[in-house]
Order: sequence, then C-alpha cells, then structure tokens
Amino acid sequence: MNVPLLDLVAQYRGIKDEVLSAMMAVVERQSFIMGPEVGRLESEVARLSNARHAIGCASGTDALLLPLRALDLAPGDEVIAPAFTFFATAGAIHNAGGKPVFVDIDPATFNVSPAAIEAAITPRTRGIVVVHLFGQMAPVEQIVPIAKRHGLMLIEDAAQAIGARRKLDGAWRMAGELGTVGTFSFFPSKNLGGYGDGGMMVTQDDALADRLRKLRLHGGARQYHHDEVGYNSRLDTLQAAVLLAKLPHLGAWSATRARHAKRYDAAFTGHPAVCPPRTDPGNEHIYNQYTIRVPQRDALKATLQTHGIGHAIYYPLALHLQPCFEHLGYGRGSLPATEAAMDSVISLPIFPELTGEQQDAVIAAVLGFYA
Ligand SMILES: *Cc1c(COP(=O)(O)O)cnc(C)c1O
Repeated sequence: MNVPLLDLVAQYRGIKDEVLSAMMAVVERQSFIMGPEVGRLESEVARLSNARHAIGCASGTDALLLPLRALDLAPGDEVIAPAFTFFATAGAIHNAGGKPVFVDIDPATFNVSPAAIEAAITPRTRGIVVVHLFGQMAPVEQIVPIAKRHGLMLIEDAAQAIGARRKLDGAWRMAGELGTVGTFSFFPSKNLGGYGDGGMMVTQDDALADRLRKLRLHGGARQYHHDEVGYNSRLDTLQAAVLLAKLPHLGAWSATRARHAKRYDAAFTGHPAVCPPRTDPGNEHIYNQYTIRVPQRDALKATLQTHGIGHAIYYPLALHLQPCFEHLGYGRGSLPATEAAMDSVISLPIFPELTGEQQDAVIAAVLGFYA
C-alpha cells in the first residue's frame, strides 16, 4: 500500500466548498492586498495565541526576519539558536546582520536546551531564538528569565507549533505567548497551511508591534512615507481567506494528529530498536511531525521507499555543519546531541486524514524492517 507522508488533496476534498467560496469572495472584490481578511485572520491568531497583536507577513521566514531587523544588529552581534531546526531559523539571523550562535538540544524532545542557551551568552548576545520543534513547545518558562536577565529579545519560532500549548502553574500558555515575539508559518505542510507562502508574528509589546507593521510595508505605516527601509512582506488577502476558512478545523486536525501519535506510540513503545518521540510533561503536542529515532536509519529509509511508505528526514544536516556557515568554525563534535539526532531521526506520516489501514501499513513496514 502506498502511503504519502502528507495528503493535502484528501484535506482539500473535505473543505473544498468552504475554501473556494472564501477565495472567490476575494476574487470578486479584487482586493488582493491588505483586504479585510488579513485583519480578521490577525485577530483570530492573536486570540488563539493569547497575544495583544498579530501581524501578518509573507512567510514564516519573514516572520523571523522582521523582529530580528527590529533589533538593529551591528556587525558581530550574536543571536543564539538551535542547530537542529529548519534552515530559516538561522538564515533569518544572518540576513538581519547577526551572527548565529548554535546551541545543542535536549535529546529526548529535540528542543533547545535552556542550559546550553545560558552557557552561550556573551557580551555580544542580542537575542535568542527558540524553536518549538515538530509541534511541541520548548521550555520557554525557563528561557524567559534568562532573556530578561540579560536584556535579550526572545523569539519563539512556532512555525511548526501553532496552537500548541504548555501547562505552567496550572494555566495553559500558548506557543508564541511568552516570548518577545512568536512567529508562525502558513507553508502548506504546516498544521495550518495556506495555498502558498504566508506567515504571522504575535507580540504583547505595543511599540514592537508598530515597528513590525512598518517593517512589513517598506518601513512606513503611511503610504509613501518611510521612516526606515523595510520590506514588501504582506500576507496576501487570498492566503488570509484560505486560512480563515481552515482555522476552525485546526483544533480537530491537531487532535487527530495526536490520536495517530498515540497509536504509533503504542506500537513502538518498548521496542528494542525504535525509539518513539517523547512529549515533555505539561505539553500538548500538535505533531506537525512524528519523528522516531532508530539505528540503521538510512537502511530503514530505503526499505520504506521500496514499500511506498512516505517518510522524511528532518533534518539530515544540522545548521552548524552547513557549508554556508563554515566560517563560524563549527565541526563534527561541536553539538553532540544535535548530531546524534540528525543521524538517527526519521519522520512518519501523521496527517489528520491518515486512515487506520494506512497507519497499519506504516507500522508493519517499520517493525518488519527490525524483525
Ligand atoms: C517552516 C519553518 C520556517 C519557515 O517558514 P516559511 O513559511 O517556509 O518561510 C521557519 N522555522 C521553522 C522551524 C519551520 O519549520
């Protein structure tokens, strides 16, 4: 049986009428730039994230770049980030004029280690980017005090974690709520995906929200008046319309992903080879990815390939080992937990529309390989 890693066509079939009528309303009005759907989506995402402000932008990458630009980094200024993440996390630091300083992860959750962050702070540190990897929150409550103590901007890269939450002192805190800025991506494969690129930033800080609104519009909130040089980084009205139509389904989709994860967990827990992902206690994981750690990963990958079982390796080469960051002076051995993860992880299909039969085929292929 062929099982795709992600089946967006299956999702589309279920919501076609809602999405197409939302898109056609924009087309009929021909209001493609900063139409009313953008503001409506911003209000909805602000509410979801317990944030005062939400500001749409062109991608999850720009959602990182704009707050980093707001730091006005000078050459040599450092921003701390995990090396085990999608490239955009560090690319945005570089493009904002900063020097990425890579830190290691907690091998159990794949999320950045607060102790490693604290140890990496220097007099040149200006900011910290934490990534809520694969859909569960990093321990932000331990990182907020570090950022405060050193006067650093804290960015939560929640591209994979929209709607994920963490119980702290008996209260649910949302991904993006506690940092200086939280950032989301609406790339089609994220839990809330548009029909193209899109992103959003959330913050509690009024002054920073104003600055971000300017930066996304060529540095001026008033048309043809520019306080600084910014970007053309708006969220398309068409994307906002698609996302508004999809947003009411997000909770159910993420809950279904979590049910699929439970079923995988039941099949893999206690297995001598397959190590299922661990959820940090207190986290509600939204499983953008279900990522196992295994021995002989590349041989398993080849077997899944022949069986037609969708899979992906996120991420095969950690950021500190990328050719473009060679000048930073890292090498093999610099970040042992990150390197162990990149050599052993493989992600399995966990999209909401995955059927029981499809999931059985995935489980059988994985267990069959190690039998
Ligand atoms: C997807 C992703 C991004 C970038 O989002 P785009 O919308 O593709 O620009 C940034 N960080 C992480 C962790 C991501 O997964």
